[in-house]
Amino acid sequence: MSISHQSTQTISLESYGLVNDRVHYQATPDELHNITLKKAMGKEASSGALAIDTGEFTGRSPKDRFIVMDDITKLKVWWGDINLPFDPDKFDRLYDKVIEYLNSKEIYVRDSYACADPDYRLNLRVITEYPWSNLFAYNMFLRPTEAELVDFDPEWTIVNAPGFMADPKEDGTRQHNFAVLNFTKKIALIGGTGYTGEIKKGIFSVLNFILPVYKNTLPMHCSANVGDDGDTAIFFGLSGTGKTTLSTDPHRKLIGDDEHGWTAENTVFNFEGGCYAKVIDLCQENEPEIYGAIKKGALLENVILDKDGDVDFADTSITQNTRVSYPLYHIANHMEPSVGRNPKNIFFLTADAFGVIPPISKLTPSQAAYHFISGYTAKVAGTEAGVVEPVPSFSACFGAPFMPLHPTKYAEMLSDKMKESGVNVWLVNTGWTGGPYGVGTRMKLKYTRAMIHAALNGDLGLYCYDKYHIHSVFGVAQPRVCPGVPTSVLSPRATWNDDEAYYKMAFKLTNAFRHNFKKFESYANEEIRRGGPQRYAF
Ligand code: ATP
Ligand code: MN
Repeated sequence: MSISHQSTQTISLESYGLVNDRVHYQATPDELHNITLKKAMGKEASSGALAIDTGEFTGRSPKDRFIVMDDITKLKVWWGDINLPFDPDKFDRLYDKVIEYLNSKEIYVRDSYACADPDYRLNLRVITEYPWSNLFAYNMFLRPTEAELVDFDPEWTIVNAPGFMADPKEDGTRQHNFAVLNFTKKIALIGGTGYTGEIKKGIFSVLNFILPVYKNTLPMHCSANVGDDGDTAIFFGLSGTGKTTLSTDPHRKLIGDDEHGWTAENTVFNFEGGCYAKVIDLCQENEPEIYGAIKKGALLENVILDKDGDVDFADTSITQNTRVSYPLYHIANHMEPSVGRNPKNIFFLTADAFGVIPPISKLTPSQAAYHFISGYTAKVAGTEAGVVEPVPSFSACFGAPFMPLHPTKYAEMLSDKMKESGVNVWLVNTGWTGGPYGVGTRMKLKYTRAMIHAALNGDLGLYCYDKYHIHSVFGVAQPRVCPGVPTSVLSPRATWNDDEAYYKMAFKLTNAFRHNFKKFESYANEEIRRGGPQRYAF
């Protein structure tokens, strides 16, 4: 069966097993917005954005992310708790069931692509059960022109059926929801969950395999932007550490907020065509660009609207992980195409809830390698009353859940690139100051921004004693002064007003670092080992 809908193009879906005459192909954002409203699957906010609930899942489910073990993946993937194997025959049966399910639904098909650099472009076809999931795909992937849709040849297919529930006994899944990647069939099969992040992170995982294995390109869980001089800055960090917030900067052109590749030609390209920002406690004054991007076309997730359609960004009654997706062009100062040259500075962002890591420090190449393989941030407990201890969280390469290969593969590539390009590496603590979570406060966004600008503009000076203090525990170089930041803020110990308590907490964290590093010890050379904290408590 052929279909011709909103687009002038005609596509055939029979090869997917889809026999369905209720197909919306390449529906415009407006159409998807209106269909969602008409079906009462969402509401329009006063800003014009569409607000939907993702349902049972309001975040990714890493324990339900599988990779089909086949000739391509078997010997290359780092199998374990992160990369869970899935049987090829089971995949085929599950796929057939999902397609049968989708044949009974009205569905939405979108052709798009990933990777803004044409040499790396990966054509995608996204088949979704819900109209708003398709709007997410419009926002987050790159958008082919009408001309590019002629003879569009989709390489990977994403099949997204949130309403389909797997039967774990029969289907080989852990529970009713699943995201399964099949590199032989080039299909990402997602079911039982409406969380849109599974769609983008599914393709991210695919690229994190393809690019290093076949294209000599380092994939990175990072944001990126470009300064007036054409210098590119890269911001690595786990969820909630500030990749999206800090890369969205009126003084620098945004390349992208989450997923990039660093090529052998020393360019950095965005995998995506949009941003996916956290909106918890979003305020117009502190983050005007993101606030302004929430307009018609944007898709809000799991937020609460009042009777006037205004979003209450403080309301976390559905989840702390409230989000908005919007196309990159909703940010006025963005790079087109999303490719940067000449990476000059790398920032490792960490939200240290122990409040002991300096707000900004400069890393040596060994320290950079050590911190990259460690991938530290801290998790704070929920919103329950009473102060609960933060928990250290380590995720190799600042993105272990999305990395199919062994972390050392990415770490080695990054080390080589850092050496070749002579890039500066900074560790930035966007987390707590003046004490740990519960006692201290989150670092002011305007201070973090000032520190990042100072690093980018060269205002922190050369790496020498009168400009930097070497932290006695972490060994990192802490600037003594920074324009726009009170000097007292630069030394975490000074902000605590209690040296003993500070060092006790610092040692607690270094022990956690050491414990986590054990699993990499047999792979790590002397250089990486030297990059760890200098002192531990015994
Ligand atoms: P994800 O990978 O989940 O997309 P992310 O790294 O992009 O996460 P952000 O969306 O930027 O993280 O979230 C950072 C959150 O922390 C935002 O809500 C931001 O307002 C808040 N924040 C508070 N203080 C700071 C600070 N000093 N620096 C950065 N972000 C801060
Ligand atoms: Mn982000």
